[in-house]
Amino acid sequence: MKITNKVTILIFLIILISAGFFYFKNIQAEDNEEKLGEAETVLESENDENKTPKDIVQIIQVEDGQTYGELMKSSGISVSLANEIYESSLETYDLASLRAGKEIKLFFDPGSKELKSLLYSIDSESELVVKNLNYFPTVADLKASSTEEVEVKENIWQAEVKAIDYEVKVVEKEGELASSLYNWALENNVDERAIIEMANAFQWSLDFAMDPRVGDTFKFIYEERYLNGNYIMPGQLLAAKYVNEGENYEVYYFEESEDNKGYFDREGNSVQKMFLKAPVAFKYISSGFTTGLRYISAFNISTGHRAIDYAAAYGTPIRTVGDGTVVMAKYNGSYGNMVSVRHNGTYSTNYGHMSKFAVSYGEKAKQGDIIGYIGSTGLSTGPHLHYEMVKNGVKINPLLEVLPPGEPIKEENKERFFESIKSWQEKLNN
Ligand SMILES: [Zn+2]
Repeated sequence: MKITNKVTILIFLIILISAGFFYFKNIQAEDNEEKLGEAETVLESENDENKTPKDIVQIIQVEDGQTYGELMKSSGISVSLANEIYESSLETYDLASLRAGKEIKLFFDPGSKELKSLLYSIDSESELVVKNLNYFPTVADLKASSTEEVEVKENIWQAEVKAIDYEVKVVEKEGELASSLYNWALENNVDERAIIEMANAFQWSLDFAMDPRVGDTFKFIYEERYLNGNYIMPGQLLAAKYVNEGENYEVYYFEESEDNKGYFDREGNSVQKMFLKAPVAFKYISSGFTTGLRYISAFNISTGHRAIDYAAAYGTPIRTVGDGTVVMAKYNGSYGNMVSVRHNGTYSTNYGHMSKFAVSYGEKAKQGDIIGYIGSTGLSTGPHLHYEMVKNGVKINPLLEVLPPGEPIKEENKERFFESIKSWQEKLNN
């Protein structure tokens, strides 16, 4: 073959490869456009006030250690614009306190490519919306423009924190325990967070590390939250029943007032008691039997083990079972790293063998607050929590301590309560 022929073939090949490459690039670009198109549709219905179609949307994931400034810069927003937005929203929300795992959505005008608004989901309940008023004129502006006297505004950015407006669907689930609640949720395609909330509603009366038995039955009614028809997360648990070894536990959610909302029994007594049943939250034992929390050693006067031992993975958070003051958070001989919480003149609780403290001496702690992490310090052969309850100076078995029910619903609200739980009660018990 002549050299010129070789060159011709080579050139031909190069053309062929590049053509293929560009074709591939184009497909990708189309793909992207399609994806963007989908996002746009979602936004149009999300953004009722703005009927202009086809916003360009940019979604930025907040990663660990990233600042607002960096995120805006990486999205091509100028420093001055980023600052303007920051300053305008500061009174409403401090954008410097962005949390990893959350996302910021930026909406750009398709024509001018200008930033129209910024949306940040603060938590599951609320979102920050910062709007460019040139694109979202207020009533006053519209009046002004109708008389042809539009002024150039000094600050065109307006921030507000809004409740996320979910669509809510009430669902009902029931099951029988075969291995663990977590496995049941997996097998039945139930959101794990819904089962965690159900367990939380019983956390004053049941210890989910120790109490559940094969054959226990349960039923629960809760809200599911949707945005534009897409499932987002479970919402409020409304009612639940758990039958543990034949014993019936029921809870009903009720809002007596803005300050008093929570779970009540069918008589209207709060099920929220002075102490939680267990010093480790269900969500940390939910991952199953082997790696989860389990009970290893009972309260036993004859052996002198006046405590309950829970084995769990190293680093599992430990919570205080009741409100109180931390009266010890230090290394204490065979207890290892120990936290002691004084609840009142009668009760205190001790937590031993911790790997790490989460509180310090003198601190106030609320029921359920994390006070430390499971470890194996002191006289211990493996990671576990040594949990003691002391009543008038005597170590007692916390599992046998009967505590009075919490504050009942006020007489004047009882009728409203019974009316609101009626249908749920029927559903749970039919
Ligand atoms: Zn122990």
